[in-house]
Amino acid sequence: MGLLSAYLARLCGLQVVIFDRSDGPLEVGRADALNARTLQLFEIAGLFGQLYPQGKPCNTSSVWANGGFVSRQSHWWESLEGCLHKHFLMLGQSFVEKLLDEKLSQLGCPVKRRTEITSLQLSETGCEVVTSAGETIAARYLIGADGSRSWVREHLEIPFSLVRPQIIWAVMDGVLETDFPKVPEIIVFQNETSDVAWIPREGNLDRFYVRFDSHDFTFEQALQKIEKAVQPHSIRFQKVVWFSQFSVKESVAAHYSVAHRAFLAGDACHVHSVNGGQGLNTGLADAFNLIWKLHWVINHGADPALLATYEGERKPVAQSVIESSGELVRATKFSEQGSHAQDYVKIVEKRAGNITGMGIGYGQGGLEGSRFHDFEFLHQGIGQLTRAYSCLSYTKFSLFLFGEVESEPMLPDCCQGIGLGQQTPEGLTSEYLGKAILVRPDGYIQAVAPLHQAQQLVARLPGNSLGA
Ligand SMILES: Cc1cc2nc3c(=O)[nH]c(=O)nc-3n(C[C@H](O)[C@H](O)[C@H](O)COP(=O)(O)OP(=O)(O)OC[C@H]3O[C@@H](n4cnc5c(N)ncnc54)[C@H](O)[C@@H]3O)c2cc1C
Repeated sequence: MGLLSAYLARLCGLQVVIFDRSDGPLEVGRADALNARTLQLFEIAGLFGQLYPQGKPCNTSSVWANGGFVSRQSHWWESLEGCLHKHFLMLGQSFVEKLLDEKLSQLGCPVKRRTEITSLQLSETGCEVVTSAGETIAARYLIGADGSRSWVREHLEIPFSLVRPQIIWAVMDGVLETDFPKVPEIIVFQNETSDVAWIPREGNLDRFYVRFDSHDFTFEQALQKIEKAVQPHSIRFQKVVWFSQFSVKESVAAHYSVAHRAFLAGDACHVHSVNGGQGLNTGLADAFNLIWKLHWVINHGADPALLATYEGERKPVAQSVIESSGELVRATKFSEQGSHAQDYVKIVEKRAGNITGMGIGYGQGGLEGSRFHDFEFLHQGIGQLTRAYSCLSYTKFSLFLFGEVESEPMLPDCCQGIGLGQQTPEGLTSEYLGKAILVRPDGYIQAVAPLHQAQQLVARLPGNSLGA
């Protein structure tokens, strides 16, 4: 999250210093799936094109029991509206980290590695940190994106009480040899419980999650559970790329910021089970939510109260992620009917809004605060077919006009106008037609007005400065 926050901040022209105690970006393991909303956000930030070809699309959850597939379902992906890529992109976290690390170097802001913060002081105007390299840095804002054991969170004494449901996942990435009818699907296996799941990965990799109730297990014990689950087929790891364990803990930080000077993002402010693949995706969305707000306060004169909406919007999302991943992980262990795997997939369906990322919104049910839909249209400015998400910019608001207007609204530089004239793009929700819609840099709807009142939406820009 730190890497993405720094990258987005650089896109917005902010000065950034980023410290990390590690030697370099992740090489293997950890998160394995980017959801559909993350793919849209990556498109806005110019990261999609390099990442997408490296991953493997996957939109199906299957149940395997008694030597055969019991069910295969993907309709909660296929029925997504206003979205081009209706699937997970199975791609290891290391690909994302490496790309961001490279981009930061290209943007003249390489990560200062093998460096920790040793002291942190906040004041009314900013913060000052001292690093393990002896540097003292003064900054207006600080983001603690330092993982689940966050030093920043501890130092700022932000409560983070953990629930530990005593569930441990063995995680194994490798290259398999098997006569199993292999498919690029997420497969949940029904044994006595559903303690084994098979996750397709990029390239020739595959991942298994195997559930245990304590930490002291071996690779062989995990493999035995897999062998039992895939019966009557046989399976062998030709190569093991990563073997680790993930102990499920659940928590949301009591606050996401102190005095709107120091912020937490990613695992530093929420942890939960890996089920549903929501950890990395939720953290990335934190960064997309926070950085444009800092940009608007620093560069466009927005009221610093805007920064309070970061916690207001993202904390309820983290709570819903804990509920959905928590329900999923417990279903692998407990089932009234003994049908854990089927129960699991039903929960995936029920919680699809979280899992796809497309059900996340910040409003009260109307258009305002909802995710802006993607659609294809003829862009009159460039004279070619394009998509809404190719036009969105992370450094600007966008004002879409869904119909003809008598006079074009006057917009400040920090807002681009995009008119559709008489076009009614295929699949576009009828709710947008005849309206002017102001879209935030992170692809959520800020405000809506009838077309003839489009100009009034300028007043809904934070900072509301025509010269900004
Ligand atoms: C086995 C496993 C499987 C997972 N599967 C998925 C999945 O399928 N999908 C998904 O979305 N998520 C998944 N996750 C979760 C995902 O990896 C995390 O949610 C994600 O890495 C959080 O990113 P982060 O930047 O907040 O924290 P981290 O990735 O933990 O990064 C924190 C960074 O801070 C640095 N740091 C920490 N302390 C300090 C300090 N004191 N000083 C300086 N630097 C410091 C660390 O070196 C690190 O680089 C999985 C995690 C694991 C372990």
